[in-house]
Amino acid sequence: MKHVFGPVPSRRLGRSLGVDLLPFKTCSYDCIYCQLGRTTDKTINRFAWGNCDLIIKEIIQEINSKKVDIITFSGSGEPTLNENIGTLIERVREKTDIPVAVLTNGSLLFLDEVSRDIRKADLVIPSLDCGNDKSFQRINRPCKGLEFTDMVKGLASFQRSFKGDFWLEIMMVKGFNDSPREIREIKSLVDQIKPDKVQLNTVSRPPAENYAAPVSSEKALEIAGIIDQKAEMIRDIELSPELLEEMEKNENRIAEMLKRRPCTVRQIASSLSIHENEVVKYLQILEKKSKIKTKNFGGELFYSWELQ
Ligand code: SF4
Repeated sequence: MKHVFGPVPSRRLGRSLGVDLLPFKTCSYDCIYCQLGRTTDKTINRFAWGNCDLIIKEIIQEINSKKVDIITFSGSGEPTLNENIGTLIERVREKTDIPVAVLTNGSLLFLDEVSRDIRKADLVIPSLDCGNDKSFQRINRPCKGLEFTDMVKGLASFQRSFKGDFWLEIMMVKGFNDSPREIREIKSLVDQIKPDKVQLNTVSRPPAENYAAPVSSEKALEIAGIIDQKAEMIRDIELSPELLEEMEKNENRIAEMLKRRPCTVRQIASSLSIHENEVVKYLQILEKKSKIKTKNFGGELFYSWELQ
């Protein structure tokens, strides 16, 4: 399975079958909080990657053998950079009634071709982390050629014409976008964009830059209330007992491996045949429970069992 991973139990989406359309790690941004590490290929040039027939075959194989609530185009960077995303969404929709979601940073929605491609999804979740260009440069570190105002206009015009659900995700980073002024600016953009839902998130470790720190729960709740009374905190969305059980199983597989020797995300992913994104998710859970620790060795981040 080269392109499809999971289904990953997701707080927001249920059992989400991930579809990765890019080589690791290709993105139009290089966010300081990125859980995948620094962007190695920063670009705004769309390209074809992967064989569409094989990707569709992988998806069909998975949905025929596992319970899947949603098929999510996300993966190792910005999925709209793959110029086949529109064709793939269309072909998935011909084969199944399972809803299709796109997790995007929203940077390219101002381009007609990108907007047209992802309009075919049922749910689009773009990000908006800042209220002005200065913070955009500091937090998202966009590719040269991307303008903050174009990005915001792209979000607003896509939302106006999109028939599916449009949820806006805001990642809060301590000291970067949590000042009263910044929050007022973000709120004003959210009011213009008018998403169906606002979801607040904060940094999970380890981010691309170690100075990208989370805001406290109290602060996040306060910000959510200012931006939108109905805004949700992603980590507070409830998980069903079934999903919790599934998560526990995968968590245990990773824990068993780390008890034997320290590993990088890539090593865990390839040994257990789990996608990097999925591994990162379970490592965050283990880290929150203080079961593992991290150590930088030769420029690579290793995870090891805390009690070793
Ligand atoms: S967080 Fe998303 S948008 Fe930002 S660098 Fe990582 S993959 Fe790209």
